[in-house]
Amino acid sequence: MNTLNKDIAGWGRYPVQRCELVRPERHAELWSEAPSLLARGQGRSYGDAALNEGGRVVLTERVNRFLAFDREQGIVRAEAGVTLAELLALTVPRGWFPLVTPGTRHVSLGGCVAADVHGKNHHHDGAFSSSVRELELITAGGRRLRCSAQENAAAFQATVGGMGLTGIIGEVELQLQPIESGYIRARHQAAAHLEELFRLLQESDGDARYSVAWVDLMSRGAALGRGVVMNGDHAARDELSGGRRLTPLRLPPARVRNIPCNMPGWLLNGLSIRAFNAQYYRREGSRSGSFLLDYDTFFYPLDTLANWNRLYGRRGFVQYQCVVPTATALEAMRQLLQRLADSGHPAFLGVLKRMGPAGAAYLSFPMEGYTLAMDLPMKGAATLALLDAFDSVVLQHGGRVYLAKDARLAPASFRAMYPQFAEWQRVRRELDPHGVFSSSLSRRLGMEEQA
Ligand SMILES: Cc1cc2nc3c(=O)[nH]c(=O)nc-3n(C[C@H](O)[C@H](O)[C@H](O)COP(=O)(O)OP(=O)(O)OC[C@H]3O[C@@H](n4cnc5c(N)ncnc54)[C@H](O)[C@@H]3O)c2cc1C
Repeated sequence: MNTLNKDIAGWGRYPVQRCELVRPERHAELWSEAPSLLARGQGRSYGDAALNEGGRVVLTERVNRFLAFDREQGIVRAEAGVTLAELLALTVPRGWFPLVTPGTRHVSLGGCVAADVHGKNHHHDGAFSSSVRELELITAGGRRLRCSAQENAAAFQATVGGMGLTGIIGEVELQLQPIESGYIRARHQAAAHLEELFRLLQESDGDARYSVAWVDLMSRGAALGRGVVMNGDHAARDELSGGRRLTPLRLPPARVRNIPCNMPGWLLNGLSIRAFNAQYYRREGSRSGSFLLDYDTFFYPLDTLANWNRLYGRRGFVQYQCVVPTATALEAMRQLLQRLADSGHPAFLGVLKRMGPAGAAYLSFPMEGYTLAMDLPMKGAATLALLDAFDSVVLQHGGRVYLAKDARLAPASFRAMYPQFAEWQRVRRELDPHGVFSSSLSRRLGMEEQA
């Protein structure tokens, strides 16, 4: 098999590391002998989860065939390199939608399982694994193992959220949800500060299937944490009118613009972000009543700007995403936003959402509480010190950081945040006694060392 040594990165473009890349054309080639192996999907994790510095990275993008689609029951089986974009193109016109989707459709099914991704409906439907009926896992030595919540359950729960460290996910079988249209009935509510944002989220998300809040990370003082709560539900066919009602499952193609090259690092500064946020808050917060959006606009607004990560310039950016249990979540988020404000560090995208109960997977990120995600341009030591300060707040409140977004968490913090790590490690050692599957993230977090 041809190999290529190349510098690659995650979506945040920090860090950049040299890995040995292989790109199998077929499922049968996914496994190859190497001292250190890691599968990679679309590279949409932000930090070093899909990097394996000095080791082999198996690009799964060409292993992307659909294997079966039961149109009556909404069950689809596909190779793990299939993306959500490809899945949506197949299933939406036939009235089926993924039960859980992250905020971009440019992710592979394997990546969604390995990070156990969550969507705007976590409080309602749980994480991605709740829609997984079965997986095929290719373990060290090339052995194929079928696993699900019922069969080889320990391997399943270690692979879901296991960040590629139990083996290569070869196939995924998913249960989809029926939809009558490709449209979402959305509703926005503006909140003048963080307390109101929490109140609105709590009051409204019981009724809404999908719920999320945009947070103005540049707001200060009495307006700290102001934002817009965005709720939505799949629209029924009879809610549509005109041409939309005639072809409710056919959507106009999404218009995509492109950021052609790295923008200068200074472009996203405090002033430009503040001006953008003020306008966004006014525009989105003042939309009254409910209105219809096509599912692309509702779920994947960032996908309309291809390569938007280049806006952050050559040094890239980090996304900090944490979840904190409900009891003290408001206080924890206030402290995080206050620390951000005190630091003077610019931060662009802020997203807050309520999460439902945790699933059974050992390293899955979600837990009952609130999750906050913040995009920060990478400014070296100042950024890293700020994120360490965030970790102290999160730890103090019993929360955790999302590994799919992480590039810099310390090993001790990781262990404190993921109390089921020892059980995960025991199962992983059974599946991969010699530690063939490894990543830059696993080595940085000391996941190879005895718990
Ligand atoms: C704009 C944007 C919005 C996002 N929104 C959300 C969101 O709302 N919720 C959320 O949870 N996440 C979100 N994410 C993160 C993203 O969903 C996850 O990082 C996801 O894992 C990326 O999938 P990928 O195919 O790009 O995987 P990669 O980034 O390539 O890999 C991620 C991890 O999965 C492992 N992996 C990938 N394929 C396989 C395989 N076949 N077998 C075994 N392991 C594998 C890799 O080893 C790595 O550890 C977002 C990311 C972006 C860029």
